[in-house]
Amino acid sequence: MSEEHEYGTSRRVFIAGAAVAAVAGVGLAASGTAAQGAALPLTPQCTDGHDTPPVIEGPYFRRNSPLRTNLRTTGVTGVLLSLTGFVYDIRCRPLANVLLDFWQADQRGEYDNTTSAYRGRGHQFTGKDGSYTLETIVPKDYPGRTPHIHVKVQAPGGPILTTQLYFPGTTRAYGMNVAQLNQRDAYYITQTVITLGTLTSNRYPAKFDFVVGV
Ligand code: FE
Repeated sequence: MSEEHEYGTSRRVFIAGAAVAAVAGVGLAASGTAAQGAALPLTPQCTDGHDTPPVIEGPYFRRNSPLRTNLRTTGVTGVLLSLTGFVYDIRCRPLANVLLDFWQADQRGEYDNTTSAYRGRGHQFTGKDGSYTLETIVPKDYPGRTPHIHVKVQAPGGPILTTQLYFPGTTRAYGMNVAQLNQRDAYYITQTVITLGTLTSNRYPAKFDFVVGV
């Protein structure tokens, strides 16, 4: 790696190197030392040099979801979820016009796989400041799976990240034991757990920021 280069020309290479080292199990201690030596700023808060990890697509993705930020369409009821956040590149720069294509199960743990209503499905683009908002409901678990929201994320000209967002074990909805469901789910990862606020008037505010390659 090109860590001997001056900061300013090799920052991206440096971060990529740190990510590779971490993935390889080398750890970040050596990189941290290098960062201090080169007087680099602290690692930005949006990332520790890792982009958002992928999770399998699963069997229920459908192309051509409607353009919309509100998935609470007719027949969709349950515990409301207002999810907001930003999409950043690995250098913590907010990315505008990033495609976010969400799909999820409903309050019964069912996907709309056939109807033209595309219930629980919608795509949108981040704003100029890299932000997005999704008005939806907490999905129910279904056999073999803890509650989750699928998403594909693609910056203009970038690769497609396919992943799943998960819920904290403390989430209260539909009588689920989310802690136990998370523990038993083969695809659950902690890195894509959303941050939930306080349940008020049957609605959770929530936060999740994506970090993607471009
Ligand atoms: Fe699913």
